[in-house]
Amino acid sequence: MFLRTAAVGGAAVAWFGGAHVRLKDDRWTPNQSFWVAGGRPAPSPPLRGERRADLAIIGGGVTGLSAALHALQRSPGLGVTLIEAKDVGFGATGRSGGVLGDGTEMGTPPGTEDNVALVEDLVGRHGIDCGLEREPAAQLDPYRYAVGLRRAAERLGASVFEGTRAISIEDGDPVVVRGGDFTLSAARVVVATNGYTPRLGVAADRIFPVHTCAAVTAKVPPEILRRVPDEIHVMTSGEMYMWGRKAPGGRVLVGAGASYCYDNGLFYRGGPALFPILRRKLLAAYPFLAPYPFEHAWSGPMGCTADQEPIIGSVSGAGRILYGGAYSGHGIAMGTKMGLFLAGLLHGDSPPAWLLRPTLPLPGEPLRYVGVNSIINLMNLGLYTMAKRD
Ligand SMILES: Cc1cc2nc3c(=O)[nH]c(=O)nc-3n(C[C@H](O)[C@H](O)[C@H](O)COP(=O)(O)OP(=O)(O)OC[C@H]3O[C@@H](n4cnc5c(N)ncnc54)[C@H](O)[C@@H]3O)c2cc1C
Repeated sequence: MFLRTAAVGGAAVAWFGGAHVRLKDDRWTPNQSFWVAGGRPAPSPPLRGERRADLAIIGGGVTGLSAALHALQRSPGLGVTLIEAKDVGFGATGRSGGVLGDGTEMGTPPGTEDNVALVEDLVGRHGIDCGLEREPAAQLDPYRYAVGLRRAAERLGASVFEGTRAISIEDGDPVVVRGGDFTLSAARVVVATNGYTPRLGVAADRIFPVHTCAAVTAKVPPEILRRVPDEIHVMTSGEMYMWGRKAPGGRVLVGAGASYCYDNGLFYRGGPALFPILRRKLLAAYPFLAPYPFEHAWSGPMGCTADQEPIIGSVSGAGRILYGGAYSGHGIAMGTKMGLFLAGLLHGDSPPAWLLRPTLPLPGEPLRYVGVNSIINLMNLGLYTMAKRD
């Protein structure tokens, strides 16, 4: 119900000629997640002028940071420059629930069985302070995880520039990435922008952003909190569900919803009903949480493909510009593994074949908007489900 209302609301705006359709809105939804409310490190200065690198990585989420770290672990001394449009962890990574799971949204395809173990290994090896818990549920603070991955990559020699947004990528030898005030040339480029990718003109017929929401309650007394499961998973239709976890400070974090904004839009207004509906869903499952209001509420873009499975691709046959992402709602551990696969691919290792599969090409607008939101609505109504792998 929550999902249906969110998606139908968006569609109505489009069909009746509201701002969603006409606005070529280049704003991005700010990161107001619970995790960043605890404070952010001072941003690093943006890249200006001309710079050369062996490897340029675009995007400072878990995928890009893990790719930087693994590339440097394999090739110490490699010149790695990572650029991030806003600040590290700004995207889905720093807005996620921080719930860790092996596999993907759709199952456990080869090479994904040990994704959580990889996260645990990195956290231990690099001393990342991110509140990692293994029991009773595998989870962490995803924003502090991103900041820790960044510091680990920097210690190995990576240069990270925040406030540095790529505007164009020109394939060639070298590849040239341009922004408003910089030119970055590199032998190889990894595009790790997940839901933001199609607006950059990369994999636009394969990846689309779907916005989803999360919220955190006020502090709940321990005797009440004990009544909440450590892993929340409440089905709202055959396909959709409200997920959640216990969050630091004796709070409850829940999330749900899916909505596609016109033209791969990255600014999601949500709507006045969005969080009240999420709250109703929470209270329907756990009525004893009624006295504890949401204190943080936010949304973020998940990268998705038509089959809801992640992909790795190359922008041209030359293989100089690689991209990887599209985890739907299952990307913290899988995105970490993706960084390992991308770094391996740069060295000539093949990732699992399923990541290189072709995907159903997505149409342009307005068909994309109508098609994606229609499928979301059908899923919400329980009229359409996608076959899982296992
Ligand atoms: C609300 C929410 C809850 C979620 N909960 C979970 C969960 O509990 N567990 C789980 O496993 N997954 C969860 N996910 C999914 C998970 O967060 C993502 O799959 C994962 O974080 C993707 O990481 P990423 O690095 O590929 O992308 P992102 O974290 O989105 O990073 C991409 C980065 O690229 C930057 N960027 C974009 N364009 C440019 C450009 N042109 N130039 C430079 N930089 C650019 C962005 O600013 C961004 O920081 C959730 C997602 C959301 C939105």
